[in-house]
Amino acid sequence: MSILFAAMLNDSLPKYFDPRREANHELSISGILPLNQLKELCAALASDVGEVVVHLNFKVDEDRRYIATGNLKSQVQIVCQRCLGPVAYDLDIDLSLAFVYDEDHAKKIPEEYDPVVMTNGEVVLSKLVEEELLLALPIVAYHQESGCNPAALKYASSTDDAEDEVIKPNPFSILAELKAK
Ligand SMILES: [Zn+2]
Repeated sequence: MSILFAAMLNDSLPKYFDPRREANHELSISGILPLNQLKELCAALASDVGEVVVHLNFKVDEDRRYIATGNLKSQVQIVCQRCLGPVAYDLDIDLSLAFVYDEDHAKKIPEEYDPVVMTNGEVVLSKLVEEELLLALPIVAYHQESGCNPAALKYASSTDDAEDEVIKPNPFSILAELKAK
């Protein structure tokens, strides 16, 4: 992606948006959000380096709901559960959102939509993006075969040995030894 294009996308991303206005005018929101602006997400990742490309197209559906379809694309660094090193993971999330006033309305939304509750008629874009990315993260991640950091693996296996050493001897076998003497 060219720097000029990236800068243009950056400029067009609002901090907040009013889904009713966006939908009534059939507007769209496109842009790039740096991952380091998403603190809760970064706390779950191995690195805050990277960005997420956001595309949202708004409309009012036939039942007068304010909806948005679109997608989020990002490459994030997840912690490998074997060597604790970073693993690159591609997120490509299709969105189908319905904007609602409160939790009660959220329950009445058909299954094909993810309900998003507005606050004073607005939505904080970064919060919406962050929640969707968090939901899409894998629960555990590993490097592919042989992709792990060998030094970290050696360390991990030596801590396993240490754990073996602290296993307490069976008290009955000690008793048996004492009786034998
Ligand atoms: Zn690994």
